[in-house]
Amino acid sequence: MTQMAKAREGIITEEMKIAAQYEGIDPEIIRKGVAEGTIVVPANINHKGLKPRAIGKGMKTKINTNFGMSRGKEDQEYELEKLQLSLDMNSDTVMDLSIGGDIKGLLKRVIEKSPVAVGTVPAYQMIAEKGIFFTAEDFFEAIIDQAKLGVDYMTLHCGVNQSSLKLLDDSKRIMNCVSRGGGVMLNWMKKNGTENPLFEYYDRLLDIAAEYDVTLSLGDGFRPGSIHDATDKHQIHELRILGELTLRAWEKNVQVMVEGPGHVPLDQIATNVKLQKTLCHGAPFYVLGPLVTDIGAGYDHITAAIGGAVAAWHGVDMLCYVTPAEHLRLPALIDVREGIAATKIAAHAGDLAKGVTSYSEKDNVMSRARKDYDWEKQRELAFDKIKFDKYQKDGEQGDKKQCSMCGEYCPMRES
Ligand code: SF4
Repeated sequence: MTQMAKAREGIITEEMKIAAQYEGIDPEIIRKGVAEGTIVVPANINHKGLKPRAIGKGMKTKINTNFGMSRGKEDQEYELEKLQLSLDMNSDTVMDLSIGGDIKGLLKRVIEKSPVAVGTVPAYQMIAEKGIFFTAEDFFEAIIDQAKLGVDYMTLHCGVNQSSLKLLDDSKRIMNCVSRGGGVMLNWMKKNGTENPLFEYYDRLLDIAAEYDVTLSLGDGFRPGSIHDATDKHQIHELRILGELTLRAWEKNVQVMVEGPGHVPLDQIATNVKLQKTLCHGAPFYVLGPLVTDIGAGYDHITAAIGGAVAAWHGVDMLCYVTPAEHLRLPALIDVREGIAATKIAAHAGDLAKGVTSYSEKDNVMSRARKDYDWEKQRELAFDKIKFDKYQKDGEQGDKKQCSMCGEYCPMRES
């Protein structure tokens, strides 16, 4: 039985209790949300040692960290360092997005080491192993393999179908498709002249997901990759399909999140959240960014954090981190650290605004620690302790009741 099936029978599972403890709330709130579909607790039955977190309505905004090998960058140990950093910085979920190297080997190690939910995009394994020459059967076998390994949630681009492909005939977009997984399905459909197997055989996918309790993260193959393309007919058409697929998943007690943009100007973010929540019946919304401008190269963790904070404020449930390397290269460890810190700040700022976190919990404590020159407490509350240590050491002066910014004129001393 899935978490959703149990929740609908009134059962509060161990996973719901763990998630509730993390939130500091009554587990019944999580049970009710899982039963309704407004909350997911991704928890594959084969992921041993998992301490799941709840994603959805009324919960703290979660963040996800991506890593993974690509062709020519196949060092598993380096990717596992990124996993450890993600855990040290309290990432709520991680995704192994490998498209090169020993994909199954790394995934197995990630699941063994990760106490937080692990996500994947199975299309990447397909494209890495077989290029575009895979069959529908190959794809379902890869999904079953990953489900058996213990993957808690999978991004699957089920909404990229022949109707959305046809819409591209008179596309006014600058970039038709910027989703790697969505692009795989588009190219496969064009090559084979048939329907996307994830859409055509969706019930089969649901049966697999139900057997292992894999949460579906319905991918947005047509997420806007440019401000110009935001909230256009391609994005909304796909969102409508994802809404229908959400209802079908719930009929089989399969948990669902819906993925979202992408690049969206600040003034369209609230509308995007409202649209998703309406068209997808309140299913949790998981966004990449959103990046509020296209011209932040090298600093896209900032463009994404601005959008992420506003998105979280308006009801987005999980933010996928974006690093300074976005659009430029595979992130290095330093990029991962900067990306996580920026995304944690965005999620927390959004939570303060939407009222799921109180100022008294951390912000007031930090302010008092600053006032008291309590550097240890400040460090404890900092999202990036490595940077805190470096900067604090650099700025330290003989007198601990000042730093190198204002020195002996520190205004807090006498006030
Ligand atoms: S010296 Fe200035 S920056 Fe440093 S602790 Fe005092 S007020 Fe803050």
